Amino acid sequence: MQTSKTSSSATFVSRDLLRQIEDLQAEETLMCGEIGRFLSGGRLYAIPRLLLRGPDAGVDPVRIGIFAAIHGDEHETAYAALEFLRRLVQEPERARGYEVYVYPVCNPTGLEDGTRQSRTGADLNREFWNQSPEQEVHLLERELAARAFSGVVALHADNTTEGVYAYVRGATLTEALARPALRAAESFLPRAAGAVIDGFPACDALIRDACYHGVLSNPRELNPAPFELIFETPQDAALDLQVEAAVAALDRILEEYRPFLAFGQDL
Ligand SMILES: [Zn+2]
Repeated sequence: MQTSKTSSSATFVSRDLLRQIEDLQAEETLMCGEIGRFLSGGRLYAIPRLLLRGPDAGVDPVRIGIFAAIHGDEHETAYAALEFLRRLVQEPERARGYEVYVYPVCNPTGLEDGTRQSRTGADLNREFWNQSPEQEVHLLERELAARAFSGVVALHADNTTEGVYAYVRGATLTEALARPALRAAESFLPRAAGAVIDGFPACDALIRDACYHGVLSNPRELNPAPFELIFETPQDAALDLQVEAAVAALDRILEEYRPFLAFGQDL
């Protein structure tokens, strides 16, 4: 697998991911579609959405959203989101009580170009809930508002760290999910070290209550607050290890949140 950021490899990666998404669309247990389309350079782009409804748990299902590749040069996250979903399709029991929404490619033009920014030059992950003119942000905000997720996980790959780490936001219980998620990921990649990660104070590879403004998140007015976790893998590590680490973290989050399912959307 080429991981260089040349435009030809980015085109290859983008096509490969779209083909994988198409393959998943053949799965009968998945509901596949898109949250909307937008024009860029005379071409239509879609932001895909794949939904797995787990078996009934006797209570209202809990909606969880997994968002990847909001930075177009972090294709590792899109591969991880799709692999997580593929394995969940094979073992749907692990999704009992959940509706798992996966958005593997949130920045399709950036992915195609191999750039962090979208084709308009915007870092989409600094534009949320700030009346952004960016079409992708508008579509994603509309989706986040409509779904009112109980939990949102955003996947990122960071080439400035040598280990996995997480931003903990939203509900208090986020930290109780993040710690075991990081431990699960550690089976594949080390934990990021240091008291400062990505420019923020960190402890045990967790960054609490600090983040950039305008990152992909739930609407602020949601009450009770959903859990919000940003999970980062070290981008210079091998692609398959980043995928395994992120999948392990996502699997563990579903597992750890399970005791809260009985509270449904009222938690
Ligand atoms: Zn990122």
